[in-house]
Amino acid sequence: MSKNGKLAKRNIVNKECKILALAQQKGGVGKTTTVINLGAALAELNYKVLLVDFDPQGALSAGLGIDSYSLKQTVYDAMVDTELDLSKVILPSSIGCDLVPGNIDLSAAEVQLANEPGRDQILKEKLSSLLNRYHYILIDCPPSLGLLTLNALAAATDVIIPVQTQYFALRGMALLLKTIKKVQSRINQNLKIFGILPTIYDSRTTHAKEILEDLANSYPDLLLKTVIPQTVKFPDSAIAAKSVLTFAANSNAAESYKNLAQEVINRG
Ligand code: ADP
Ligand code: MG
Repeated sequence: MSKNGKLAKRNIVNKECKILALAQQKGGVGKTTTVINLGAALAELNYKVLLVDFDPQGALSAGLGIDSYSLKQTVYDAMVDTELDLSKVILPSSIGCDLVPGNIDLSAAEVQLANEPGRDQILKEKLSSLLNRYHYILIDCPPSLGLLTLNALAAATDVIIPVQTQYFALRGMALLLKTIKKVQSRINQNLKIFGILPTIYDSRTTHAKEILEDLANSYPDLLLKTVIPQTVKFPDSAIAAKSVLTFAANSNAAESYKNLAQEVINRG
């Protein structure tokens, strides 16, 4: 690990900024959990990481112990105000990553921006001045394929699709992949599918194993090596406003996100 840590440190010079969107129109699949813990794992390796809370529910901000409802400015303000620089709303967080907070105001942005020219490019434009400050930007998408997710996919270099390894895991996947294809051909030719991340995996049940096999058979090129185990350490760490890497440092939960960070780094 220390070898990796040193390597990572050396590699950060002149590294291009990767923007990873965590997208999936289904809620409860581990998007926010992945943003927090992948972000923490990358920050632990001395990468500069920015997390963007792009879900009106503000679960990412809350999971980092930030009361985004009491803030004067959030990502919403930057989205609707052409003059407002996104750097003005960035906050430090307890897990070593910076945060662009979000809250319920964001749901108004979808309506307010509906007739705006270039409305799917706003986040990309807002992030452009921050690219030389960070190695990784992780965007936490809402559970829908609306304008916010489109903005995230337009801004991203890569998309990670978390899939809960339970019944109906594959439901909605075709629609999501079709949406990503359209984004790739119409608004962001640089967008790559980084991979499908199996989450909330209960290794004791045969049906979780079957779902994992299904995923491997259906999407052999997209399935990531890392599998995120099911454990209460994730909700418990979120309640404590910590990453699982500090909340349960030696757990297989922490290990899984360190492995995912390594997959992300190696692919770079
Ligand atoms: P999403 O952002 O896709 O809606 P979340 O990351 O918020 O999903 O996860 C939904 C709920 O499931 C949260 O309470 C979270 O703590 C819990 N959770 C996420 N990943 C796991 C996991 N691997 N094992 C157990 N619970 C998890
Ligand atoms: Mg979420």
